[in-house]
Amino acid sequence: MSEQSQNQIQQTTIVADVPPNVELMEVRKTINNIAEKLNSLDNEITTSISYINKIKALVMIFESIGMWKCSTCKMNINGVCTGWRLPSNLSNDLANLLGEDIVIQQDNVYRFKIDKFPFIGSICPIYIQRL
Ligand code: SF4
Repeated sequence: MSEQSQNQIQQTTIVADVPPNVELMEVRKTINNIAEKLNSLDNEITTSISYINKIKALVMIFESIGMWKCSTCKMNINGVCTGWRLPSNLSNDLANLLGEDIVIQQDNVYRFKIDKFPFIGSICPIYIQRL
């Protein structure tokens, strides 16, 4: 670069007569760090939403299969599965997780209400087809 063009650049560049404020430089660095973290978080959220949607799709498929299986199973008596006896602690945990109406107590036995929890049918190994 010629000396003349360097002089032209120096003449058009803004030059501060005082040094930059150190505190403002720190604030700027902090803001840049926050912006980077937000971008990273945004990517993680996008990835998580993709996984959550896949899990939702799987649950929908399992529920559909479960509905079909339970609706044709001999152990389904009026929407209650009489094939499984649930221990009270499992019954309470399920009720806390998924809602009170997920289980029912009949004759001192806790049982699945399969119309509220059809998912169980999709993985149930004791299915007996109703004739
Ligand atoms: S398929 Fe399993 S969960 Fe469904 S009604 Fe039959 S025994 Fe119960």
